[in-house]
Amino acid sequence: KLHNTILELKGNIRVFCRVRPLLPDDGAAECVSVSYPTSTESLGRGIDLIQNGQKYPFTFDKVFNPEASQQDVFVEISQLVQSALDGYKVCIFAYGQTGSGKTYTMIGRPEAPEQKGLIPRSLEQIFQSSQSLQEQGWKYKMQASMLEIYNETIRDLLSTNRSIDPTRGESAVSGKQYTIKHDLNGNTYVSDLTIVDVSTMTEISSLLRLAAQSRSVGRTQMNEQSSRSHMVFSLRISGMNEGTEQQVQGVLNLIDLAGSERLSKSGATGDRLKETQAINKSLSCLSDVIFALAKKEDHVPFRNSKLTYLLQPCLGGDSKTLMFVNVSPDPTSVGESLCSLRFAARVN
Ligand code: ADP
Ligand code: MG
Repeated sequence: KLHNTILELKGNIRVFCRVRPLLPDDGAAECVSVSYPTSTESLGRGIDLIQNGQKYPFTFDKVFNPEASQQDVFVEISQLVQSALDGYKVCIFAYGQTGSGKTYTMIGRPEAPEQKGLIPRSLEQIFQSSQSLQEQGWKYKMQASMLEIYNETIRDLLSTNRSIDPTRGESAVSGKQYTIKHDLNGNTYVSDLTIVDVSTMTEISSLLRLAAQSRSVGRTQMNEQSSRSHMVFSLRISGMNEGTEQQVQGVLNLIDLAGSERLSKSGATGDRLKETQAINKSLSCLSDVIFALAKKEDHVPFRNSKLTYLLQPCLGGDSKTLMFVNVSPDPTSVGESLCSLRFAARVN
């Protein structure tokens, strides 16, 4: 009962925490422990972080332990995904430092079926459901786009005629503007962005492959760009019932955020410093927006970053937002993990 009240106060924003397993390169002992309601449950709500012998407890809507599989995680978001077919605007974010499991959660390892992430699983479910809804007269049109926001600049990840601009050292498509526009229906779109009609998982797989290629082109050009940029996968769903003439317009956004780590002040200069400032700015803008929405403040500062301006229609109103805070159990990143949990607790 109390939990319901909290969710109501928060509006439609939820926070899930996921702890990835300890990897071979990590330190020996885990610095986080997930607490469970009972010994048989693998899904808790509490997580303790231990730094220098001190315990920092946090509570979220759900906490996934390192053993939670991709399917275990998907089960908990499948209803949210389904609501996009009913006409809701849905945003799911992955927040956390580089190496904490954001991309694993969102995309996963496409080559291993059980390690597929939320994007392929969500689309699988949407395609399946839309097919069974055909029997009730529903016809759906689905359109996907994928973009990256780096240093407050938008890059199209699905453009096939990408070229490398040697002067700017980034891959760019000449003559394209990529400006965020808000239309009269309160939707946003990005000018010149590639939009692809999709209806099968084969199409989705090739989009994900193309996007991964586009991201890695950037990466060799500009060191590790992918961890310094936000990736937005967006699916627009238009449904029309031929019998009842009902119409629905849903959106599903799945966002792999830039790494939240703070670079040491001494190390970052020039471009690197500019890059860090841009990331910090856009992540704190996102938290400001979510915070203002949760507190139902009159002014929500959507315009302060590209990411929030782009996602504006999917963050306010009766839209639904879920944030994953991804945490590494590696003791060498305990400071960053604490920062991530605090950030998420503020949003929660
Ligand atoms: P990020 O995108 O936050 O930088 P990654 O998703 O690339 O982090 O994860 C870092 C490493 O940890 C990768 O090798 C990834 O495969 C692995 N990993 C992350 N989460 C899990 C998990 N839940 N189970 C198994 N391996 C994971
Ligand atoms: Mg990543």
